[in-house]
Amino acid sequence: MFDWLIVGAGFAGATLAERIATVRGEKVCVIDRRDHVGGNAYDELDAAGLLIHRYGPHIFHTNSAAVFEHLSQFTRWRAYEHRVLARMADGMLVPMPINRTTVNRLNGLSLTSEEEVEAFFSAQAEPVEEIRTSEDVVVSRVGRKLYETFFRGYTRKQWGLDPSELDRSVTSRVPTRADNDDRYFTDTHQFMPADGYTAMFRKMLDHPNITVMTSTDYAAVKDSIPHRRMVWTGPVDEFFGFRFGKLPYRSLTFRHETHDQEWFQPVGTVNYPGEEVPFTRVSEYKHLTGQAHPKTSITYEFPAAEGDPYYPVPRPENAALYKQYEALADATQDVWFVGRLATYRYYNMDQVVAQALATFRRIETTLPRGDGGQNLVAAAD
Ligand SMILES: Cc1cc2nc3c(=O)[nH]c(=O)nc-3n(C[C@H](O)[C@H](O)[C@H](O)COP(=O)(O)OP(=O)(O)OC[C@H]3O[C@@H](n4cnc5c(N)ncnc54)[C@H](O)[C@@H]3O)c2cc1C
Repeated sequence: MFDWLIVGAGFAGATLAERIATVRGEKVCVIDRRDHVGGNAYDELDAAGLLIHRYGPHIFHTNSAAVFEHLSQFTRWRAYEHRVLARMADGMLVPMPINRTTVNRLNGLSLTSEEEVEAFFSAQAEPVEEIRTSEDVVVSRVGRKLYETFFRGYTRKQWGLDPSELDRSVTSRVPTRADNDDRYFTDTHQFMPADGYTAMFRKMLDHPNITVMTSTDYAAVKDSIPHRRMVWTGPVDEFFGFRFGKLPYRSLTFRHETHDQEWFQPVGTVNYPGEEVPFTRVSEYKHLTGQAHPKTSITYEFPAAEGDPYYPVPRPENAALYKQYEALADATQDVWFVGRLATYRYYNMDQVVAQALATFRRIETTLPRGDGGQNLVAAAD
C-alpha cells in the first residue's frame, strides 16, 4: 500500500514526490508512461556522447530565490545566459528579443540611446484601442513591419493560428528592448544543472520512500497499485475521460542531428521567423551545457497539430473548457492536480516547481501526517 501514487515524473511529480517522502515520511509510487524520469526536461547522451534534450532545449531561469534554493539541493549549477538570434531570409542574423542592435542592423541606423530607440518604436507603433490579441501587443508597441518580420510567421508556424487569433499572453512573453541587452531572459537566476536535468531528477527521486516505475501508464496500473491519495500531473482532460471534449494542445516534432564540426551556430538558439522554412528554431546544446567535444549536436523544432501535448493553446474558448475540468478537479477528493498539463497553463519549469511547492504547503495544512486516509483503489471499486 502506497500513501501516494504520483502520475508523471516531470518537475511537478518529482518535486512533490521528494517533499512528501522526505518531509512527511510517506510512501510514494511515481509512475510515468515514458521510459524515463524528467518529463519534458529529460536530457541524455546521444550516440556521439553529446548531452542533448530529447524534447527540445530547456533553459532554467527564475526570479524565485525559494525555487532556486530548493532545486540547489539536488544539483550544482553552471552559470548560463541564453542568447537567441533571428535569421532573416537573406541570412542576416539579428538579436531576439528585438533590441537596439536589431533595430540598427535591420534599418541601417546607428541609434545610440534608449530615447532614440523608443522614439523609433513610437513612430512605427500603430494605435490599438484595446489590446486583446497577440497581434495587438506587438503592433501597438513596435509597429507592423517589425511585427511581420519577427512575430507573424513565427507565431503562425508555432501555433497554427494567426497572432490575431491568439490571446495576448503569447507574444507578451517576449519583451522589446531599447537598450543593447541581448540576453533572452533577464531573471536573477540563470543556470543549467551542471550534470544535466536527468541527473538532478535522479537525485530528487533517490529516496527509500520513493518507488519509480517508468514505461507505466496510469490506465494500465490504476487498479493494481494500491494507494490512498494521488497527484496527477498528466493532462486534466485525460483524467476525466475527455468528458467535455479534448483540450487543444500544440505539439512539436524534433529532428536531432550531430555534425562533424565543432560549432554549428554562434548562439544557443537561432530562430527562423519566416514561413519559407517549416521549422521555428535550431538549438545547439554545447552552448547550454558547456560540454567540450569535437562534434556538435543540434535540434530542429517542427510545430505540429498532433503528437505529445506540449503547449496549452491560450484562447478564451479553451480557457472556458478548462474551467469545466477545473471544477471537476476541485470536486475530486484526495487527488491533487499539479503541473503544466494538469492545470492547462503555459508554465516554465520554475513556475511548475513553485506550484508544486505551494501544493505541498496546502497538503501539509489540510492533511494530518500519517492519518491513513482512505484507500482510493478500494473507493473506486
Ligand atoms: C519544447 C519545449 C521547450 C521548453 N523550454 C523551456 C525552457 O527553456 N525553460 C523553462 O523553464 N521551461 C521550458 N519548457 C516548459 C517545461 O517543459 C515545463 O514547464 C515542465 O517540463 C513542466 O513540468 P510538468 O511536470 O508539469 O510536466 P511534464 O514535464 O510534461 O511531465 C508530465 C509527465 O507526466 C507523464 N504522464 C502524463 N500522463 C500520464 C499517464 N496517464 N500515465 C503515466 N504518465 C503520464 C508524461 O509522460 C510526462 O513525463 C519547455 C517546454 C517545451 C515543450
